[in-house]
Amino acid sequence: MKTTYSRRDFMKFMGLSSTAAFAVLPTIANAKVLPHIVIVGGGFSGSTCAKYLKMWGGSSVDVTIIETNPTYVSPILSNLVLNGQKTTNNLSFSYGNYSAKYGINMIHSTVSSVDKSNKTITLANSKVVKYDKLVLAAGIDFDKVSDYDISKVPHAWQSRDGINTLKTQLNSMRDGDTFVMSIPASPYRCPPGPYERACVVADYLKNTKGYSNCNVIVLDANPKIIVEEQTFSTVFARYGVDYRPNSTVTAVDDTTKSVTYSNGGVSHTLASTVLNVIPNQKAAPIVFETGVNSGSWAPINPLSYESVIVSDIYIIGDSQGTGQPKAGHIGNSEAKICADAILRKLNAKPLYTSPKTNSACYSPTSKTEASWLSAVYKYDSATQKMVLASKDAGAPSTKNYKKMFLWSGNLFADTFA
Ligand SMILES: Cc1cc2nc3c(=O)[nH]c(=O)nc-3n(C[C@H](O)[C@H](O)[C@H](O)COP(=O)(O)OP(=O)(O)OC[C@H]3O[C@@H](n4cnc5c(N)ncnc54)[C@H](O)[C@@H]3O)c2cc1C
Repeated sequence: MKTTYSRRDFMKFMGLSSTAAFAVLPTIANAKVLPHIVIVGGGFSGSTCAKYLKMWGGSSVDVTIIETNPTYVSPILSNLVLNGQKTTNNLSFSYGNYSAKYGINMIHSTVSSVDKSNKTITLANSKVVKYDKLVLAAGIDFDKVSDYDISKVPHAWQSRDGINTLKTQLNSMRDGDTFVMSIPASPYRCPPGPYERACVVADYLKNTKGYSNCNVIVLDANPKIIVEEQTFSTVFARYGVDYRPNSTVTAVDDTTKSVTYSNGGVSHTLASTVLNVIPNQKAAPIVFETGVNSGSWAPINPLSYESVIVSDIYIIGDSQGTGQPKAGHIGNSEAKICADAILRKLNAKPLYTSPKTNSACYSPTSKTEASWLSAVYKYDSATQKMVLASKDAGAPSTKNYKKMFLWSGNLFADTFA
């Protein structure tokens, strides 16, 4: 039997603790029935969006996050789990204080379908939730390479289980063993992330484990290192990483830990001790289920992040298809533009026409050094697209390693606290 949550049910759970009611809200602030904004996904983009909707919209909006997991584990900094500098507990965020502080309703369940005509969503337990505006902030999904067990060959690109499994496998390597990893075709989550991982693993084997005969082989589906080329090629050369561009994984054997890949039309098979295949990526399953994708990603209006396919559905974070990087820092930026746009739309106000977003990635290249990469995007009214306005990068250093924790601490606090 289906249970339907009404707006009134949610009101029971709402606090009045929002800090800054948005100044332009007299119309909906006086309304008796609050607009209900439902956000699917409590990661970097979803949690930021909910928080800012309540900070700016105050008690004029009813905001609910539906998130599968009771705790979020940040993929940001997760490569440091591999070399023992962090644990997944260090990177975990729970929602209790956050939701109470901002008056956000939390439901821990998985959204299995969206009824666009009736504006309802159905949860895995068959419960139905009504929405006025729906924000899909559900991250990514992976293309299938071949049938294999990801608990034996983890991508470690999304969940705590994967990164901990990969760490255990890495710890069991002995001198002379081979670590093989693959890099997906762009676009994918966190452009520098896989290159960063190869550096961290090579440093760990050489300088922490003290192994001088291990091989680290990187199969890159892209024709070259796609970001921070100078930085990563220098570090790869320092550690003797065997980097193979134009190498697309075509099959994986989880028993023998061998991988088959195509390079220039020729098929090769490599044996390994530890195999880390990061498959090609696409928008989260719920984006496809809702039918707001075009190809692998979801096209949106960059002034609001509203779908260009279905109105009142917004897509933020890694699932959106604007060509901006798929990263948590910029997901946090997109979430604020989306929150502002939703509040404007509810108040029949025009959208802000000059949004800018900012992306930042710090990449540990060893247990003491990190590089960084940053970019600013702005709305171009002629093409109606987000275009690159400026970018900068910093080479690996111990100073940048320390700054990485200041940057991530600020991002985590702005998102989850
Ligand atoms: C190794 C690594 C390093 C990285 N480093 C950086 C960095 O330096 N800087 C940076 O900006 N980014 C970095 N990233 C990228 C960053 O982690 C992601 O881009 C970011 O997490 C995307 O945010 P999101 O909100 O789109 O998705 P996610 O953070 O994945 O959140 C999506 C949430 O939606 C939930 N969900 C999905 N489907 C449903 C459903 N149907 N029902 C209910 N809940 C659902 C999931 O459980 C999940 O919690 C890194 C990533 C990796 C892997």
